[in-house]
Amino acid sequence: MWRYVSFIVLPVFLIFYSWIRFGPTEEWAHLIGINALHMIAGLIAVYWMARARIERRNPHLRFLSFLCTGLLLHVLGNGVWLIGQVKDGRIDEPIASTILWCLAYFSYVLALITKMRSIGLNFTNKNYIFNLVVFMTTAFVMSEYYLLQPYFEILNPTLERTISTFGFLIADLLLLFFSAILYYHVRYNHGKPHHRFLVLGFLIQVSGDVMFTVLTFSSSPFLEHLVDIFWVIALLSIGWSGHLEGRHNPRQERLFRSHRTVTERDFILPYISIGLLTGFVLSTYGWYLNILSIGWLLLFFLVLGRQIFTLRSNNRLLEEVTFIAYHDQLTQLANRHQFMERLSSDLPRSYAVISLDLHRLTIVNDTMGHAIGDRVLIETANRLRLLRHDELEIYRIGGDEFALVLPYATDESLTALEDALIHQFVRPFRLRGYSIQVTIHAGSCLVEDAALHQDILPCLDTALLQAKKQGPMHCIRYDEQLHQWFSRKIQLEADLVAAIEKEEFELVYQPKVDLLTKRPIGMEVLIRWNHPVFGRISPVEFISIAEESGHIIALGRWILKTACRTTRSWHEQGYPLVVAVNISVPQFKDQHFMSMIQETLSETQLSPEHLELEITESVLQDVTDSRKMLQMLRNQGIHCAIDDFGTGFSSLSVLHQLPVHALKIDKSFVDGCPETSSGAALLPHIIAMGQTLNLTMIAEGVETEAQHLYLKSIGCHIGQGYHYARPLSVEAFSLYLKEQLPSDETPLSSAQ
Ligand code: C2E
Ligand code: MG
Ligand code: MG
Repeated sequence: MWRYVSFIVLPVFLIFYSWIRFGPTEEWAHLIGINALHMIAGLIAVYWMARARIERRNPHLRFLSFLCTGLLLHVLGNGVWLIGQVKDGRIDEPIASTILWCLAYFSYVLALITKMRSIGLNFTNKNYIFNLVVFMTTAFVMSEYYLLQPYFEILNPTLERTISTFGFLIADLLLLFFSAILYYHVRYNHGKPHHRFLVLGFLIQVSGDVMFTVLTFSSSPFLEHLVDIFWVIALLSIGWSGHLEGRHNPRQERLFRSHRTVTERDFILPYISIGLLTGFVLSTYGWYLNILSIGWLLLFFLVLGRQIFTLRSNNRLLEEVTFIAYHDQLTQLANRHQFMERLSSDLPRSYAVISLDLHRLTIVNDTMGHAIGDRVLIETANRLRLLRHDELEIYRIGGDEFALVLPYATDESLTALEDALIHQFVRPFRLRGYSIQVTIHAGSCLVEDAALHQDILPCLDTALLQAKKQGPMHCIRYDEQLHQWFSRKIQLEADLVAAIEKEEFELVYQPKVDLLTKRPIGMEVLIRWNHPVFGRISPVEFISIAEESGHIIALGRWILKTACRTTRSWHEQGYPLVVAVNISVPQFKDQHFMSMIQETLSETQLSPEHLELEITESVLQDVTDSRKMLQMLRNQGIHCAIDDFGTGFSSLSVLHQLPVHALKIDKSFVDGCPETSSGAALLPHIIAMGQTLNLTMIAEGVETEAQHLYLKSIGCHIGQGYHYARPLSVEAFSLYLKEQLPSDETPLSSAQ
């Protein structure tokens, strides 16, 4: 605003003052100077507006074109008059100038109508309508009473002059009307702030016109000077709005929408209107006041005052409520509600979102108490605020989840933000004498097209999930590769259920051999998916999808039934093998798990001691429940083995409490042996420990004869791996059995 005052208002006043004070005194020469000043101001305004029109690549070109044309016509009107003044020495304006000025007004009105159409004339706010109605009623009543009535009473105008007076009056009222709408648009609907100068320009122009009309029937040298000053400032103000439009950088436009309430400033227009009208009504009655009218006036102002007071207290309340609804009370950050609204608002074409969660908050809460947990969250919010970026928006979207939105993001700016984010959490938190290392996982997504915008939340989840897989202090960007992975995951999840009916799954069997005799004593059943589009898919990929989606329950039932049925058929052929079936955590925790096993065994006629369940160490995290289930299984005569032993968290103290019968040592321990790698060095100790606990020891991933001999030498009981056989189809496994166990030999029992 100060730039506007120092570049426009002050210079215009100074120049006019100098011209009036020091310029020529004869009317003709004085007017030429005034007119020339009009021309110069008009040309500057046209230049500003034309530059905005050329530079802008925005959708409001028609609006700018009309404004520019209006200014140009205005200048031309003055130009024609100036030429007449210089050439013919005439003082009054020629008819051509009046027509050009009329057209200029027409153009301004068209510009404003175009603008109204582009902003969609939002009349939803009732204060908005109320203010407009009050303002326009006052403007209309006053112009009729103070301009038209005296005009016709005092003057006896020609038809031509009446038409032009009426024309300008109507144009002025229209300009006022649309300018008032534009003003409220800037205030209520977050219109561009520089449009205020346009509104101001039109307001000054209309004020100049009013003074001019007053001058036609009353003379005032002061008003005469003021009219010209007003008109010149009006031209420059309209041009100035074009100048700002040209320099307007949409990047700097604050997209974040505060939830603005109505303030008393919004009532300035109607209050001024009511005040003015009251003053003029009183003046026309000759200020005749009696006790009744004074009382009425007093009441009128009291009611007005009370309205302002109520409005202010309502606003304060509303602001508080809105703040609570849109902010998180602990960190004072914007909350999930605001985040969701932000994502559905008109975000720019390119923006980025980072979603992050704290890795250790639950542990902090459990071990140090919730007060410290709260401090961790507050400190996290403070660290996020330290990420210096003008446009960055920070949200707390869940217990330990935060989100960052970066409008107008590019690949580079997002990378810089990701790095800065991770960097913020390298330093431990110092809270109440504790030094707490809080780590984060983060997933980010750079949105550059509308399609990705639709899927932003699942994309962020996918990226965050990947980051979690990679471990703390990783920020994973959702990119094309992840997109493919995600689409494939969605596809596989959708195909999973039908795949059982379509018989796309196949079970393969990998023998487990007695290390002393190398003869098969049982087999592990492993699943394969022959997908019609993606081909053969590894269980490593689709079992986790089945677990996440819950489909593992149905799939697991099918696996168990099929494996038991096949094993039973081998039994009937004279091979009493033990079948080992992998069981996922959700299956083990399913309330119908036990009954499902019993039903399957009775349906397939397989005896329980020929079934072994392989469970992972993660099942054992909940020791009490797991122990109960394992005990029930043992009571039924079913064996359980801990799969991939050594990769999880099970401690020896937990192991000896659990009724399991075997440990399957993870392949990573077998890989290095018999050379002494760190894993292989542990192997004899694990075996010795297992023997002490009276557990059957099974080694996975045996690939060489050397590994086989070494495992045998340290007392391991059973081996499984490519060295003996790869996972085989039913037919291949039958052949394998015939080879390895001629009919006079029978397999050993695995329960040792
Ligand atoms: P797991 O239960 O530890 O199975 C052993 C995995 O090691 C199998 O991979 C097997 O093919 C592989 N393997 C066996 N011997 C060797 C060897 O000498 N060298 C090497 N490099 N690998 C060997 P697969 O079939 O890809 O299965 C991977 C994992 O998927 C399994 O690990 C298990 O956790 C899961 N899985 C497989 N089938 C099922 C199933 O039917 N149900 C459930 N819940 N999970 C299954
Ligand atoms: Mg297994
Ligand atoms: Mg395993």
